[in-house]
This record gives sequence, structure tokens and C-alpha cells, in this order.
Amino acid sequence: MNTLLLVEDDAVLREGLAELFIREGYRVVEAGSVREARARLDDAVQAIVMDVGLPDGDGVALCREWRAMGDTRPILFLTARDEEFDVVRGLDSGGNDYVTKPFRMQELLSRVRVLLRGSAPGRVTARGGFTVDETRMQITRDGEALPLTLTEYRILVLLLESKGVVSRDRLLQLLWDDGGKYIDDNTLSVHMSRLREKVGAAQIRTIRGVGYQWSDM
Ligand code: CA
Repeated sequence: MNTLLLVEDDAVLREGLAELFIREGYRVVEAGSVREARARLDDAVQAIVMDVGLPDGDGVALCREWRAMGDTRPILFLTARDEEFDVVRGLDSGGNDYVTKPFRMQELLSRVRVLLRGSAPGRVTARGGFTVDETRMQITRDGEALPLTLTEYRILVLLLESKGVVSRDRLLQLLWDDGGKYIDDNTLSVHMSRLREKVGAAQIRTIRGVGYQWSDM
């Protein structure tokens, strides 16, 4: 049975989430503060779901502290829409993923499942010189890791795993799920152009009026 440490100071939300995870077959250790989280993180815990704004500190700082101690267990942040959550800072701290409140329960469950594939051999997909390592949430080109944001990573995984054209609608849906806020067409275009700069413009073909397609060149 997988054990999660659930760190959330909103008791109603925490109990709701704990109930959900338990129904899905997890064992849940609950904590309502940084202090409790430190005390309750034991060897049985396999992944951590953690609120960022805690009454006695900050989940991102706690993540950084654990990483500095050599703890590599996956951490997913729960962030509030009105909190200025800096995704870069969150992931730089060693966090693996995040969801923005309010989130859909199914979305959270599926993210946690992905994290828990953890040290078990994760899904690795290779295409041309590009390799997606879903466990490490990393994409390499000829063995070298690409410096991608979380959004760029998600877009690129979708492109690499699709044989045909990925529609703009599908990408917009993906980005919607990502941050829970509306992303317009222009924002998508900005993400795509940054992604092209990182992987090489010719790798991503624009199919006018439809979407994008990965090109093996
Ligand atoms: Ca909070």
C-alpha cells in the first residue's frame, strides 16, 4: 500500500483529500503545519502532497530543506490561485509537480499516480534524438537535458507521443488542466515559440488552422 504525507492546514480540505486518497487505497499521514510535517515524515512515506502556504512556514522552503537533506521522495505542491506561487521557484526547490486550487480530484489522483511510478522504472519514450523520462519529468536531446518549464515539458511530451497533428484545442485543454486558469490562443503561441527556440524550430511544424505536429526531420 502506498503511503502519502498530506500537508494542508485547511482541516476541511485535508480531511476531504485524506478520505479520497484512502478510498483509492492509499495510507495517509496527515499534517497541518511545517512542524507537524517534519515530525510525521517517516520512512513509510512514499510521496508528499503539500500545501504551499502553511501557518508556520512555507511548503516550498520545507521542500528545499528536505532536498538538502538528501530526501528524493516526490513532492506535489497544492497552491492557491490567490497565492503568488512561483512555479520556477517551486520546481527549483526540488518539487516535482503542482496543482492549483481549486483542482479536480481526478486530476490530483492522476498526478499522484504519476509521481508514485517513482523509482519503479518509469515510462521512457524515445523519438529521434529526443527521450522523455516521465519519472524524472525530463526530456533529453542526445543525452542532454533540455531546460524546459513544466508547461513546455507537457506540450513536448504530447507532441513527441503523437503520431499525427496535435490540435490547438487539445493543447489549450492541456494548459487549462495545468494551471486551472484560462489560456488563450496567444499564450499558446508564445509557449510554442519558446519551445521551438529550445528544441529547434524545424522540429515543430505548424499545421495552419489545425495545430502542431512533431517532425522527425
Ligand atoms: Ca494553506
